[in-house]
Amino acid sequence: MICDNYDSVLERVKAAAKRSGRDADSVTLVAVSKTKPLSDIEELIKHGVKEFGENKVQELDDKYETVSTPVNWHLIGHLQTNKVKYIVDKVKLIHSVDSLKLAQVIEKEAGKKNCICHVLLEVNVAGEESKFGLACEEVLPLVREISKLPHVKVDGLMTIAPFVENPEDNRVHFRKLNELSLDIKSKNIDNVDMNVLSMGMTNDYEVAVEEGATIVRVGTAIFGERNYSI
Ligand SMILES: *Cc1c(COP(=O)(O)O)cnc(C)c1O
Repeated sequence: MICDNYDSVLERVKAAAKRSGRDADSVTLVAVSKTKPLSDIEELIKHGVKEFGENKVQELDDKYETVSTPVNWHLIGHLQTNKVKYIVDKVKLIHSVDSLKLAQVIEKEAGKKNCICHVLLEVNVAGEESKFGLACEEVLPLVREISKLPHVKVDGLMTIAPFVENPEDNRVHFRKLNELSLDIKSKNIDNVDMNVLSMGMTNDYEVAVEEGATIVRVGTAIFGERNYSI
C-alpha cells in the first residue's frame, strides 16, 4: 500500500517535471515519515527508497539509529540551536535554517565533527504570521553571511506554502521562491550553489514541480493521514 502510494506520487512528480520542460528525474521525492512507525519506513527502504524527511530532532535521531539500512535523512522542521549537535553529522540536508545564529551554531558543531553541513534557507514567501522562515528581503544578506562559514554550505531555498483548498493558489508563491533563488544565483557568491528548491507537499507538489521544485516533501499522500493523538 505505502509502496504503491509512493510509486504513484513519483509518477506524478515525473509527469509534472516533464510538463515544465525538465528531466523526469530532476526532482527528488522526500518521503516525510514523521509520526510514522519504523515498519513503514522499512517497507519503503525495501522498495528502494533512500530519502526520508523528519521534522523533529529526537524522532530523526531515533529512526537514524534503528533503521536496518543507512538512508538519507532530511531535517525539515524548525531547528533549535541546542539540538544541532545531535544531528549535524547525521543529516544529508537541513531544510529549515532561518537565522544567522542557527547557522553559526551549525558551523561550530559541524567544525567539531569535521563535516560540512548542507542547508537550505527557509523562506516565508507568503508572509504568513504563524510561520517560521525569512522574509524575502532577508534572504540575500543572510546568504552572504553564511557563505563565509566554512562548515556550512547553502544549497538553496525552502518554503512551506500556505494551506489552501486549491493548489493553484500557491503557484504564485512557488514562482516567487524560484525567482528569488535565480536572483541570488546570479550574484555568484562563493561557497553558495542555489541549485536546490525544496517546495511542495501532499496538496500542492505537482504545482511546485511545475514551478521549478527540485525537492518535494510528501508525507500524507505516501503514508496516509497522521494521528497526533496517540
Ligand atoms: C509534515 C511536513 C511535510 C509533509 O506534509 P504532507 O502534507 O503530509 O505531505 C512537508 N514539509 C514539512 C516542513 C512538514 O513539516
